[in-house]
Amino acid sequence: MRLEDARQRIIATVGRPEDAETLPLGRADGRVLARQLTADVEVPPFDNSAMDGYALHGSVLPATGEASLRQVGTAWAGRPFQGHVGPGECVRIMTGAPMPTGTDTVIMQEQVRAEGEQVTIRAGHRPGEHRRLAGESLARGAQILAAGTRLTPAHLGLAASAGVAEVSVFRRPRVAILSTGDELQSAGLPLGPGQIYDSNRCSLTAMLERLGIEVMDLGVIPDRLEATRTALLEASEAADVIISSGGVSVGDADFVVDVLRTEGQVGFWKVAIKPGKPLAFGRLGQAWFFGLPGNPVSSMVTFYQLVQPALRRLCGVDPLPQPLLVNARLAAPLRKQPGRLEFQRARLAPGDQGQLTVEALSQQGSNVLRSMVEADCFIVLPLEQGPLEAGEWVQVQPFAGLV
Ligand code: AMP
Ligand code: MG
Repeated sequence: MRLEDARQRIIATVGRPEDAETLPLGRADGRVLARQLTADVEVPPFDNSAMDGYALHGSVLPATGEASLRQVGTAWAGRPFQGHVGPGECVRIMTGAPMPTGTDTVIMQEQVRAEGEQVTIRAGHRPGEHRRLAGESLARGAQILAAGTRLTPAHLGLAASAGVAEVSVFRRPRVAILSTGDELQSAGLPLGPGQIYDSNRCSLTAMLERLGIEVMDLGVIPDRLEATRTALLEASEAADVIISSGGVSVGDADFVVDVLRTEGQVGFWKVAIKPGKPLAFGRLGQAWFFGLPGNPVSSMVTFYQLVQPALRRLCGVDPLPQPLLVNARLAAPLRKQPGRLEFQRARLAPGDQGQLTVEALSQQGSNVLRSMVEADCFIVLPLEQGPLEAGEWVQVQPFAGLV
């Protein structure tokens, strides 16, 4: 199966969340709006000054020479000038202060001559300058943010500027993770013969937490059918999503697929990507299930390319962000066999004339997790692509924005 087909099928199957909760705005960073926000007020709520200077009516601006005006008061931010400004008059005004009645123009203080109450203005100004209009940021009744928006600091600030105190956000999916494999030992304990430390749960937890998801860590499941069955069924009762790693290939000790075939509805896909390939996806009881390959790089690549978009959809994000791909020139030749879409770990560097160059790391084994650390991007090589020469153009997916 092609990656894009797998991604589309998964996203179309999981659908959007239903349950929402109400949160104070200040606690909603990273959450996804369940209902659109509309402005009950105009932002800004009144015409106001964009500068420190002098407010006046545009009709008093001289076409040539100078005009002399009398300053009749001061308008502060939060302390409006109460009177009316008549012909021949002006008001000293601060940034953010409401435009006094009878004025529509602000002249910067640097551009006038002020002596006592007398303010002299030269020709060359435009009526209406340096005035911010009520509602220019948000009109009353306008949509502030659409449902499906993932909130970031700017979104929160914009909502706050319209006086929004609470937001309705989707409930986040509960995600249970587990590792499978008799060889896996947890950090802090000594390694026995043939054992390795479990790294997938650690990186999976962090990838999930970066999506704002709370993780239930179910630990390591030994390679036994009954233990695998018990663990997966328990997980399906507690979680909305189960993510396992390992045990989905065709080895004799790979029981995840067996359990899922008997207890759930699960597809076992050979996705034509490298690293990656075996992936189980489906339903176990009430939970969505993703079975990732065990090799650490494979499990990360499959997570980013297939699980992350699905989780974003399950969090209610709409529309889903498209993968960011940039063009770069190969700094060195690159090995590639046609047949699978490859995500080679690579490093970007600035090249000539603002172009980017990229070089694949030498170790591309799906077990060498260090390649993910040394890389700052994937070179994304199409399925039918063969080897490439230095200087050829390739598409690159930077980690910034992905991870
Ligand atoms: P599997 O998919 O179970 O056949 O595992 C493939 C490879 O990934 C084997 O070398 C495993 O030892 C390794 N592996 C599986 N799970 C983990 C894990 N959680 N952490 C590190 N390596 C793993
Ligand atoms: Mg295994």
